[in-house]
Amino acid sequence: MTTLRTPAQLCDHGLAPPQNRAALESVAARYAVALPPALAALIDRNDPHDPMARQFVPSQAELDHQPQELNDPIGDDAYSPVAGIVHRYPDRVLLKLTPICAVYCRFCFRREMVGPDKANALSPAALAAALDYIRAHAEIWEVILTGGDPLVLSARRLRAVMKALGEIEHVKVVRIHTRVPIADPARMTPELVRAIKIKGKPTYVAVHVNHARELSPQARDACARMADAGLPLLAQSVLLAGVNDSPQAMADLMRALVECRIKPYYLHHADLAPGTGHLRTDIATGQALMRGLRGRLSGLCQPTYVLDIPSGHGKSPIGPNYIEHAAKNGGEHVVVEDFNGRRHQYPPNT
Ligand code: SF4
Repeated sequence: MTTLRTPAQLCDHGLAPPQNRAALESVAARYAVALPPALAALIDRNDPHDPMARQFVPSQAELDHQPQELNDPIGDDAYSPVAGIVHRYPDRVLLKLTPICAVYCRFCFRREMVGPDKANALSPAALAAALDYIRAHAEIWEVILTGGDPLVLSARRLRAVMKALGEIEHVKVVRIHTRVPIADPARMTPELVRAIKIKGKPTYVAVHVNHARELSPQARDACARMADAGLPLLAQSVLLAGVNDSPQAMADLMRALVECRIKPYYLHHADLAPGTGHLRTDIATGQALMRGLRGRLSGLCQPTYVLDIPSGHGKSPIGPNYIEHAAKNGGEHVVVEDFNGRRHQYPPNT
């Protein structure tokens, strides 16, 4: 099987009902579709609520747009000084090399910007200008290569970008956000892994994973090749209705990540991307899930639950609050809640 890119192909492979094909053509006309064989193989065709299918197979629910949804939900455009760069926080920039991904996730927060029919990969001149911007801003400590998916590029192109970043003295850390180890694990060859290493500087790889089943044996091997090569691995996940919004699914995901030497980093509240309302939960659900992880799972299994505030105001932690300030006998103290819900005064004797 090759990567499936049309509703007709999805219907032919039993991944979408033929009666939905016309509606799915409308979805595909607006949002890119790509389902690589490695992910298609994980889908249970007999389960109408399969968490893999919910993430990767287009649905006619994507035609339902809610008034609060936004084409640029996290406000990238407002912080883009030159093509390919987003400079929102002082000490780091995003460098977007390509709008292409190995898979097009149905909840994608950049769904209006990614896909084969969007602007092409950064031209050599645009990439040179983006690198010049980074060189000219000594406050940039970290460069984050993000999506599209940088790891769809050839090892040769990636090696050239990493070499250029490695030569910028004030850039101390490079981070790559990718779904390739999950969506196309065979692509993570030793050559590609070597290409993303920079001599003398760390490359962190943030792998995007939302369900434990995405960590197939092949995906685990792909991640192991990176970990064995000395690349620190992080995970970013998105809280998605019907995918990981149960305590068991969330716990299984976090444990599976840590077992693969991937530290859970962020659990994102799903952004207000158009046509994704069927995949969003409310924040109270996310907070309850985070409470479920705390104390019951190892500290290694605790991501930070965050919301990207619309209009480009950045990420804020939105996890449950365990502390409140109180006053007693003219003095002040705090009350801290433990993982069983019991409350304790701190310091104890005030
Ligand atoms: S891989 Fe990332 S950028 Fe690409 S579609 Fe999925 S969420 Fe969006």
